[in-house]
Amino acid sequence: MSNGDSIAAERLCPSRLFGYPVSLSGVLETTAGGTNMKKLAIVVGHTGARPGAFAVDPIAQSENAWNADLAGRMKAFADSHLTDSLSVEIFTRDDGGVSGAYRRVREWGADAAIELHFNAATPAATGTETLYHTAASRGLAEVVQAATLETLGLRDRGVKTPHEASGGRGTANLSQMGVRPSILTEPFFGSNPGDCAIAQSRKQHLAEAQVGAAARYLSALYDDDPDAVMVIPEALNVRGGPGTDFGTLSWGPLTAGTVLTVLDRGRVWWKVCLPETPSRIGFVHSDYVA
Ligand SMILES: [Zn+2]
Repeated sequence: MSNGDSIAAERLCPSRLFGYPVSLSGVLETTAGGTNMKKLAIVVGHTGARPGAFAVDPIAQSENAWNADLAGRMKAFADSHLTDSLSVEIFTRDDGGVSGAYRRVREWGADAAIELHFNAATPAATGTETLYHTAASRGLAEVVQAATLETLGLRDRGVKTPHEASGGRGTANLSQMGVRPSILTEPFFGSNPGDCAIAQSRKQHLAEAQVGAAARYLSALYDDDPDAVMVIPEALNVRGGPGTDFGTLSWGPLTAGTVLTVLDRGRVWWKVCLPETPSRIGFVHSDYVA
């Protein structure tokens, strides 16, 4: 399956993707060329001169320094393990700030962007959150949040808009990618010694989990198979018929990132099956797949 076919690209029907009424064909053209390679930009939060929050022991580093290393691990993992599916480049805000970084991200033709941060508040504040701003970005936020929760095991603070998280900080960063997914990660609190101990000891796993989740998500999102969709929320019930009057099936709930094949599209409920187990057929609410 190639992304080089513009007719197939139109069939992706972006109005179905998160209800976002803009064609993705321009995005697909940037990655055309006979491969299914997707481009993921990693933006390191803050700058060397203004490095963001400083984490307590055992990290004892700024957001900028810790995340520059995390970004390097993410790229190294993609370069060695995801050679057929994902190309990762690292971008910094040192030259030209947020807008300069994202201009270079767009010039590179990124399919999606992840900006790396960590949270800071009181020593007791804890947990993982992922920020998104555009409708097209929520699905990526959900799958990266789920992968981070699985890796660190910290409290689930949810996926949030910048307004929900902190009165709007981050909106400018998350508004730079048009119809392409763009998220900002806050995997733990640098102000919490327990969070820092876990994040430091699982740093390599965190890098691999986040980049792996992004790769799976992007390959499904930009796949030119019009019947392949992906589960957006962390848990999605599958029902025996098209409506909540029908009972849930035992092979659900499905986890974020699960790929489904759509067999029939009702107005609200879609009949789906698992591609690897086609005998498993059920119905899901179409708002929760993309
Ligand atoms: Zn930050």
